[in-house]
Amino acid sequence: MAQTTPNHTLTVEGWAARDPSGKITPFTFKRRENGVNDVTIEILYCGICHTDIHFVKNEWGITMYPVVPGHEITGIITKVGSNVEKLKVGDRVGVGCLAATCLNCDFCKTSQENYCDQVQLTYNGIFWDGSITYGGYSKFLVADSRYVVRIPENLPMDATAPMLCAGITVYAPMKDSNLVDSPGKRIGIVGLGGLGHVAVKFGKAFGHHVTVISTTPSKEKEAKDRLGADDFIVSTNPQQMKKATRSLDFVLDTVSAKHNLGPILELLIAKGTLALVGAPDMPFELPAFPMIFGKRAVKGSMTGSIRETQEMMDACGKYNITCDIEVVRPDSINEALDRLARNDVRYRFVIDIAGKSSNL
Ligand SMILES: [Zn+2]
Ligand SMILES: [Zn+2]
Repeated sequence: MAQTTPNHTLTVEGWAARDPSGKITPFTFKRRENGVNDVTIEILYCGICHTDIHFVKNEWGITMYPVVPGHEITGIITKVGSNVEKLKVGDRVGVGCLAATCLNCDFCKTSQENYCDQVQLTYNGIFWDGSITYGGYSKFLVADSRYVVRIPENLPMDATAPMLCAGITVYAPMKDSNLVDSPGKRIGIVGLGGLGHVAVKFGKAFGHHVTVISTTPSKEKEAKDRLGADDFIVSTNPQQMKKATRSLDFVLDTVSAKHNLGPILELLIAKGTLALVGAPDMPFELPAFPMIFGKRAVKGSMTGSIRETQEMMDACGKYNITCDIEVVRPDSINEALDRLARNDVRYRFVIDIAGKSSNL
């Protein structure tokens, strides 16, 4: 569709998967001309999210090939539309999961547009002009300026890229549970991967006692010594889990493999909240008793609004928080995707799209 849309005249070099093999190869395509509300961004870096694997291999059955993945994008603005006031050429910016929303529904009008039922995503979405959206595995992006955030000057563009998805995914539920500005809570982070390690950093920056809950005992040293976690619980150790019963105010579960929520719920105090951001393919087992007897709540969270994303970016600038990354060249994307599928990365791959140095 994109190729036949009249104002899609800008030729872009990128990288795409063409079929469910998921193999990424160079792909030249067209983007729309910069509209009055748009900015054009020269992409410097793009993080590789686990979602990208699902899309390139059509694991959710909704992929429109060729698919150009990427929704953890950082770059420099090279063009601004005539209606754009808050951004200018040369600005350091980021784009996450959102490409467009309806702007009219209750969620859009109250800065919760990530829950708009007409949300269009940065890739594999259908934009208002009928074109398929192509993401950040490409040299530049034309984005509606309403979905673009500024990146603080002190943050590196490469390690900041994953904050546009991994970062906001864990920040939004913490904000929702009032953990950003009220220190001194006891919080648990289940899983120490791309999402979990950022959540630990936020938790410590916001002044909380942070416990990492993991199936992997060998991660204790990393969690405590390098990331600053206060406690570590091996979730497969019944004694450790029992000892921590009713000790946490809030738990963020980042694990995307199927697991039982009952033992995790028992870690919460009465009226505590368990927020889920991992997305297992199979339904969770959710026993009623820990919820009823502890008046506990289980809730989900999907990325964040643009206002929250900008707030998160500003907090990252304030506390100097970025993602721990491994930078790869575009010709190594396939290898990176294979390693990510095996969880063989600490903690996020970032593609050096522009081939520039990492200290921009
Ligand atoms: Zn993502
Ligand atoms: Zn809406």
